[in-house]
Order: sequence, then structure tokens, then C-alpha cells
Amino acid sequence: MTATMPEMPAFEHTPMDDIAPTCATSRATFLAHKTRPLAFRMQQLRRLYWAFKDNEALITEACRRDLGKSTFETYLVEISWCMNDCVWMANNLPRFAKDETPSDIPFTNKFVGPRIRKEPLGTALIIGAYNFPFQLTVGPLIGAIAAGCTAVIKPSESAPHAAAVLQKLVAAALDPTCYTVVQGAIPETTALLAQKWDTIFYTGSEAVARIIAKKAAETLTPLTLELGGRNPAIITKHADPKLAARRLLWAKTLNAGQVCVSQNCTFIDRTMVPAFVREMKAALADFYPDGARNSPDYGRIVNRKQFQRLKKMLDASSGTIVVGGTMDEADLFIEPTVVQVSDIGDSLVTDESFGPLMPILPVSDLDEAIKLANETHDTPLGTYAFGNKQELQQVLDQTRSGGASMNDGFFHASIPTLAFGGVGSSGQGAYRGKASFDVFTHRRSVTTTPAWLEGLMDVRYPPYTLKKQKK
Ligand code: NAD
Repeated sequence: MTATMPEMPAFEHTPMDDIAPTCATSRATFLAHKTRPLAFRMQQLRRLYWAFKDNEALITEACRRDLGKSTFETYLVEISWCMNDCVWMANNLPRFAKDETPSDIPFTNKFVGPRIRKEPLGTALIIGAYNFPFQLTVGPLIGAIAAGCTAVIKPSESAPHAAAVLQKLVAAALDPTCYTVVQGAIPETTALLAQKWDTIFYTGSEAVARIIAKKAAETLTPLTLELGGRNPAIITKHADPKLAARRLLWAKTLNAGQVCVSQNCTFIDRTMVPAFVREMKAALADFYPDGARNSPDYGRIVNRKQFQRLKKMLDASSGTIVVGGTMDEADLFIEPTVVQVSDIGDSLVTDESFGPLMPILPVSDLDEAIKLANETHDTPLGTYAFGNKQELQQVLDQTRSGGASMNDGFFHASIPTLAFGGVGSSGQGAYRGKASFDVFTHRRSVTTTPAWLEGLMDVRYPPYTLKKQKK
């Protein structure tokens, strides 16, 4: 018997009139303390796990339709990613949620039992980007559930199949008074932002982050921002060109380069260019023996608008295409493409490509590479470098970024228990692992003063007699 594919749910904008009541329910449920018990949170996490397990085929098909993602890639970066995070969080939640007693409390203050309670921030709005439509919304949701928040999730309308499947999963698996998906684009998100939130978790572009931050500032709502790339890679004269080529190609072909942490421009020692280009061609042939276009493992650009944006970037560049370069709008296909550019003002360097375009900019030495990388973007989301030990250390010491992978492209971002986030204009706040719990948690400092301590406490009450001042 062959398993039949469940019907793909349709993407429908949430009616504008439903948005305020949905948010009100979420808030009322939080204020009724429904999400406080740990048993409830763990049950919701387990249900979310099973929602993924039971709907693998639907999730895979949605990612295929939206982004041409391969089955393996979807399993790796969406399904198993979210399932593992659910299990890990449920297993560790009792430890995270426990009160903490700081070890450095002065002796005389210990009698009042100073401790930190881990309290949910409240009602969370989670806004996601299109490129990893499940992990970028469900990752924060796992943190929100664990912390005891209620949440409204707004997936990206640019991945409509995934957004519709996510809505179906959440509605079927989770308590609908606590966790809801609202679908839509700018009008719906604007309506959501007009509601009262206790925290907003936004993943997306810098430009939209400014709109969100302005709105959040009006109500002093805390904000987590997971923003965009323009991440430098550096290849020194001591790097292994084959290793650098294979690893950087992987980082630009996963999800067809639509990855916030993938490298934008590679600053490469001039002497390494011929070997690196040769190894890139070899790696490309190795990854996709029948060409990227014919490979079931290579994805597509999400939509025509993004395809056009990438094409324009390439057209505006004064660089020379040295690897790849083919594209087909009808199929939303862009070949992994290496372009040799000569100055940091090139459109491929200044703008985030968020696609499979790989500018390389030859430099004289590591000092110049670091200088140009810092000039291009001094607080990117990630930094990548290939070279010897001292060179890698120099890169870490003389640059800033949200995270960094030495001798690799963005591998740090795949470690489930390592906090992930940006710095400066690439974002604020972090999640994954324990950080996902922390980002939705308020650390509430509490003391309880026993009645019997009144004798000692008496010193604080006026009148401040000389006798008291001498104590
Ligand atoms: P986007 O900013 O266009 O959209 C993200 C979300 O914001 C969507 O849900 C969208 O509906 C909403 N939105 C768009 N315009 C809005 C407006 N005017 N007002 C209110 N809401 C609005 O981003 P995208 O195109 O989906 O994703 C690409 C960007 O996201 C890239 O810059 C990429 O680097 C970044 N990104 C960052 C991370 C990270 O973890 N740091 C992850 C993925 C993507």
C-alpha cells in the first residue's frame, strides 16, 4: 500500500477583523496563568514534536513547492531541527525553570532568601522570514512555550505553502487559546504590531526591523531582532583552497544561498585566486555531477521578485563571472556563481545577496582583508576565515560579528545548544539552546523577609539616632 500525500492546506490571509480578538485571547490566556505549570509547557512541546513527526511528508512537500528544497535538506534544517529542539527543551526545562540563588549574596542578606525566579515575559509576537519557514518560527516558539509565554506567530507570506502547513500543525497540536498563527503580509503584520505585546521576536531584513523597532519603542516592548547577512569570508595565503572552496560552496548552495549567515563577499589573498577558482569549479562538479539545475539537491529562488533582485545585482556588478553564471527565470534557477570583483563599492559587496552569488575580492594580505571586511560591515551576522592558526586568531581579534566559524562557512549556526544571534545592525538578542528559554524569560529577583528578623531590621527605621548610626 502506498502512503498518500495529505492534502496541502491553502494559504489564506487572516481576516483583519480576527486579528485583535486573536491577540486578546492570547493575552487573556496568559493572564489566566494557563501556561505557568511546567507540565503544561512540556506537554505542548511534546505535542509540537509529534506534529512534526506526523507531518513530515506535508512539510517536505511545502518546502519543495516554496523553495525547491530537497527532501534531505528539509529533514535536516526544518524537521529534525525542530523535533530535536522540542525534545532537548522538554528534557532540560525543569532545570532551566528552577529558581536560582546567586552564590555571592552577602551573609547578612541570606536570611531573606534572595533568589531569581524565571518568569514568562507574557504574550509574544513571533514574526518569521521565508527562507527557513519552519525553524525560524518554530525555534522561537519552542523558547516561548518553554518559558511559559503565549504566542502569536506570523510566518512569511513569501513561503505560503509552508505558512499554511505551519498553521495547520499549530492549530491541530497546540492549545489554540495560547498559540495561534496569523497569516498575511504588511497590512496584517501592521495590525499585529498595533496590539499590546510583552515581547516581539522578529527575524528578517534590517529595513523591516527598523519599522518593527519604531513600533515597539512606542510601547517600550522588548524586542529580539535576528537580521541580515553581508557576512565576510576571508581566505589567506596559507589556506587550503580545496577545503575553503568546498566549505564555502556548501554555505552558498544550501537553500540556494538564501541563508542569513552565508558569506556575502570573500576577501581572498591575490595569490590564491587561481587555485580557489579551480577548486570551486571542481567542487561544483562534485556536488552536482549533472549540473546544479538538474540536481534534486539544489533549491530555487523563492519567487520572481527575489530572482529579479538577484539578477539586477549581478547585472549592476562590474565584476567578471569566473564560475557558473547561468539562470532561468521561468524555473527560478540561479546557478552557484562566483564573480571576481575589484572594489568594495561593487553592488555584490555592498548589498546582501541572499542567494547563490559569490563575489570574491582579491587583496594583498590579511591586514587588507580585515580592513575591507570591517569597512563593508563592522557588525555582520557571521565571519568566516580560512588560514593558519595565528591568522584565524587575528581575524577573531580584529573583527566583530554575531557569530563566527573558523575554517568553515556558518557551521557555528548549526549547533543546537549554541546561542545564535547578531550584534549591532545584524541583530540583538539570541536564541537556540538555553538562550531560547532565556529570551522569553524575565529574571525576577525576589526576597522574603522573615518576621523574626525585625530586631535586626530595626536599624533602617527613623529616627536615625546616633546609636543606630554607630551599629
Ligand atoms: P522581510 O523583512 O522582508 O520579511 C520578514 C517578515 O516581516 C515577514 O513575515 C514579512 O511579512 C514581514 N514584513 C515585511 N515587510 C513588513 C512591513 N513593512 N511591516 C511589517 N512587517 C513586514 O525578510 P525576508 O525577505 O522574509 O527574509 C530575508 C531577510 O531576513 C534577509 O535580510 C536575511 O538575512 C534575514 N534573515 C535573518 C535571519 C537571522 O536569523 N538573523 C534568518 C533568516 C533571514
